[in-house]
Amino acid sequence: MPIYEYRCLECGEKFEKLVRLSAPASEIECSKCGAQKAEKLISNFCARMSSATAAASAAACSTPT
Ligand SMILES: [Zn+2]
Repeated sequence: MPIYEYRCLECGEKFEKLVRLSAPASEIECSKCGAQKAEKLISNFCARMSSATAAASAAACSTPT
């Protein structure tokens, strides 16, 4: 399972969570205040890619839009 980093929309706490691919964001519970309002931090996900896939994914992650 992938590890994603989330930021709580209630208190601003950042935390990492092992999540199932099918898990909706509403299931992500803040580790600090318990609120189920968290947004996924995509940029950190890119940075955490394994070296095996970093070369391919880095280009996609860093491509200016
Ligand atoms: Zn919180």
